[in-house]
Amino acid sequence: MLKHAIRSGISNHDSDIGIYAGDVESYKVFSEIFDPIIADYHSFTQAKHNPKNCLSPNLQISDPDNRYILSTRIRVARNLAGFPFTTFISRDQRYQVEQHILKAIKTLPEVLQGEYFQLKNILNSNVKTWKTNFFPEKGDRFQQAAGITRDFPDSRGVFLSGNKKFMIWINEEDHLRVISMNSGSNLAEVFDTLCTGMETLEKSLDFSLCEKYGYLTSCPSNIGISMRASVHIRLPNLWKNKDFLIKFAEQNRLQIRGTSGEKSSVENYVFDISNKQRLGVNEIDCLKILSNGINKLIELEMKSRD
Ligand code: ADP
Ligand code: MG
Repeated sequence: MLKHAIRSGISNHDSDIGIYAGDVESYKVFSEIFDPIIADYHSFTQAKHNPKNCLSPNLQISDPDNRYILSTRIRVARNLAGFPFTTFISRDQRYQVEQHILKAIKTLPEVLQGEYFQLKNILNSNVKTWKTNFFPEKGDRFQQAAGITRDFPDSRGVFLSGNKKFMIWINEEDHLRVISMNSGSNLAEVFDTLCTGMETLEKSLDFSLCEKYGYLTSCPSNIGISMRASVHIRLPNLWKNKDFLIKFAEQNRLQIRGTSGEKSSVENYVFDISNKQRLGVNEIDCLKILSNGINKLIELEMKSRD
């Protein structure tokens, strides 16, 4: 129902998007309302189908002394075909989704093997040593109003590889968030790890996908390639000029988030900067957009050093 789709925006007037899809069909049934929102957010109206795993060797972030970039993270969102999205899923279906994914995880190559942590055990275990960016939060008021946090922490969990560079969040905002993360700025290596994991998962899981909009996700900001490549970057000088940063991000097709993710504040001058669009661009376009923008920002930060 449309009133379910828009309840996050109705309860939160400061919402950026304000509408979530309940399932794949929502994008067709409510296209009159989804289409203009999608065109506005992504500046594109059609998915781009291109080979994705061909990384150009000169795609690099230039931070030779590791002075500015703390870490690099690339994630893709995926949902299993035949199940409603997290906004609308039943408790039993959520459990089934978790079981399908756990089965697929067993087929990952040895280098990505690791351990699955159920969120309910983590929350009860009082383990304080875990870094919070390995584990998802319960969800903010936007996700809560959209229905995503129902039955929390049931059937939510994190698969973490032994080397802690590869993760799969299960039943967070989407059925899967597949994440590759490492300290430093080696975008190519982080992307390569993600591709290795995705190649295996694609063989055993059937993802929701359509010709027009690519991979379908609960929030329309994630449709297309569903990829967000981000760096944690320390910008103590540019931090003083927020208006410049906002304009720079807009002009360079980037998005700025706070240190602990979407809607969080910036601590210790550390920004989360990522590609904004995911529709009408392929994975390599997004990595180029990120590396070009970040290289420019590092130069500007160095110039404005006092
Ligand atoms: P997404 O929706 O893409 O998963 P969020 O904004 O919800 O991203 O953030 C999820 C978590 O990932 C947060 O804990 C955030 O601090 C962490 N994170 C995002 N980018 C990076 C990065 N480049 N390095 C380290 N942690 C990151
Ligand atoms: Mg998120």
